[in-house]
Amino acid sequence: MKSLLIKGGRVIDPANHVDEVRDVFIAESKIVASAQDAEVIDARGKIVTPGLIDMHVHLREPGRGDKETVETGTRCAARGGFTSIVCMPNTTPAADNTGTIAFIRQRVAEVGCVNVFPTGAISKELKGEELAPIGSLKKAGIVALTDDGHCVQSNDLMRRAVEYAKMFNLPVLDHCQDYSLVADGVVHEGYWSAALGLRGWPATGEDVIVARNVLLAELTDWWIHCQHISSARSVQLIREAKRRGVKISAEACPHHFTMTDGCVKAYETNFKMNPPLRTEHDRDGILEGLADGTIDCIASDHAPHCTYEKEVEFDLAPFGIIGLETELALSLELVRKKVLTLPALIERFTTKPATLLRLNKGTLSMGADADVTIIDPEIEWTYDVTQSASKSRNSPFHGWQMRGKAERTIVGGVTKFP
Ligand SMILES: [Zn+2]
Repeated sequence: MKSLLIKGGRVIDPANHVDEVRDVFIAESKIVASAQDAEVIDARGKIVTPGLIDMHVHLREPGRGDKETVETGTRCAARGGFTSIVCMPNTTPAADNTGTIAFIRQRVAEVGCVNVFPTGAISKELKGEELAPIGSLKKAGIVALTDDGHCVQSNDLMRRAVEYAKMFNLPVLDHCQDYSLVADGVVHEGYWSAALGLRGWPATGEDVIVARNVLLAELTDWWIHCQHISSARSVQLIREAKRRGVKISAEACPHHFTMTDGCVKAYETNFKMNPPLRTEHDRDGILEGLADGTIDCIASDHAPHCTYEKEVEFDLAPFGIIGLETELALSLELVRKKVLTLPALIERFTTKPATLLRLNKGTLSMGADADVTIIDPEIEWTYDVTQSASKSRNSPFHGWQMRGKAERTIVGGVTKFP
């Protein structure tokens, strides 16, 4: 393996409080202090960061290889600047058993081009009725428990899940959705749901579960992470709980801090996601949560769906959009809008998810795995979803003018993109 010298870039390594122009050396797939005969990569004018981590990705394998596979999903990640991703268990069959976890890990070893950390289901078949075999899933290599796509409705079962998770040192990630309040809502309940005649998904349907999770995290003294938070009230609940020292954390997705529910007005199904796009008030709440650290991480909720599935009436279309390739550019807008400093943004993609999930990643410390992202922060480009590495095309950002992009993605010392 050739040694690398990444020369003259602005190195931002939040774990070590580094933000300065310096060189980074890689040898034998690790970050080192110096290297002989290294291939030089000119990074002048670029940002050099620990490989970015996305803790919320749907790879769809096993079961829906027509939407995405480990191969295409990880290629998409590398293009977006991500060297590590965390995949969700709502596959077919669900990742509620050791065989499915072993299958995913085998596929990653064979065709994956970035690191993939699997999660296991909280409940069998994500039905919220009976706990999955948490201990064996942990042995099989999961990094967290989640029923993402679904939400355990029984507060007692959720309590037991968190108690078991604590015994096995696993964080619990929760897709916060109260089924009785949300029912078959498809867009945010408010002006636009009424104007368009679409069924509403009220913000309270998220807030109630966030509040439940705060109470259970407090009761069990264990970590619950609220996934893809979309409402201002949820942010407020998490902020207050964090002040009391509750073990609660949260992530936000670029679509929720970039767009609002008015985007749905043409009944375009690529604006249908779960939770839905919400109001300007909610979007501002998410931005405040990102700015003050209430929201720990940014994640894509990359959710590929086939075109034929999305090209139906709004009510019938599946929820979700692909996001790995547009995530970094949309997040760099937060720096330009002065919501976050660049080091704070990089932290939300590196040290924060690594700490929450206890991953030995997200730093350029000497001896760390040589996962590195080189970012051109100013390059202007247009997102063309027809050229996506994903098998799916369901992005609302097709044709958008973007600024900033991963120029090179290095995983374990090997360039995986371009
Ligand atoms: Zn979800």
